Amino acid sequence: MTNKQSIDYRYLFGPVPSRRLGKSLGVDLVPHKTCTLNCIYCECGRTTHLTLKKDVYISIDQIKKELADFLSHDPKLDFITFSGGGEPTLNSGLGEIVHYLKSEYPKYKVALLTNGTLLHLSEIRKQVLDVDLIIASLDAASKKNFDEINRPHPGLNLSKIIEGLITFKEDFRHLFWVEIFLVPGVNDHEDELSKLKQVLDLIHPDSVHLNTLDRPGAESWVVPAEKKSLAKIAKYLHHADMIRAHPVEQKDHLCEGGLYERLLSTIRRRPCTGEDISQILGVQLHDVIDRLDALKKDGAIKKIVMPRGVFYTIRG
Ligand code: SF4
Repeated sequence: MTNKQSIDYRYLFGPVPSRRLGKSLGVDLVPHKTCTLNCIYCECGRTTHLTLKKDVYISIDQIKKELADFLSHDPKLDFITFSGGGEPTLNSGLGEIVHYLKSEYPKYKVALLTNGTLLHLSEIRKQVLDVDLIIASLDAASKKNFDEINRPHPGLNLSKIIEGLITFKEDFRHLFWVEIFLVPGVNDHEDELSKLKQVLDLIHPDSVHLNTLDRPGAESWVVPAEKKSLAKIAKYLHHADMIRAHPVEQKDHLCEGGLYERLLSTIRRRPCTGEDISQILGVQLHDVIDRLDALKKDGAIKKIVMPRGVFYTIRG
């Protein structure tokens, strides 16, 4: 089935195939790179708006309008996921959107990908209680590594963030996973891992996931962890799950026309390989490569070679 959209979507993307979330429709709740952190590995680049201010960054009515249009086609989805290139909990209308989806479209499951920095605030915790799956990041248990990896807003306090995750998990009745991003040479040493393990014991997440660099990050010196080391650390951290690319057959996609626009909008969110784009947009690989070559010739995009392949990103 192909969706015939009647409006242009600015805040929906995908559905994106994901190993953990299956077929997931992404929803942006904040403008690109509006975040409480400025992680060195962020695949969306450096944070341009580092803030703790909660606000209606994107109109809730506009997001509802796009969701209503997309869901009117009754698409098959595994999740509707708040994610994108910023921190979704910064949008003060998050609770309203969660309520809208749960009351108007109860058959769809809702997921939230968050950096977890605001879950110590009771008003944020209340807003997300009905979300079916929350994946919260926690890359460090020591202030030194938190500062080095996540480069937080100066108003954030790591102990408070960890307390927030512990308190939230006590009240939350749905799935709660913690994701740790490993940066070799920074948070993969014994001391940090032992502290992280102690914190995980206090949080009691339903699952722990280990992630590492897969596409170009905000800082070019960040490299992926080796598989062997990942496997060893995963075993140490209560048999954490290692996140790996797992292609899912992609048939539905967001819109029909404007391949150039869709392609640019996809790689503006995060660097992608030709294969990634072909899957996300449901377009033949050779068509994608033709367009990418043309955009590269025009100077609109550039190539970056990574262990997983050649990635395309917007020329900054
Ligand atoms: S990885 Fe997530 S939390 Fe970190 S800067 Fe990027 S958007 Fe923000």
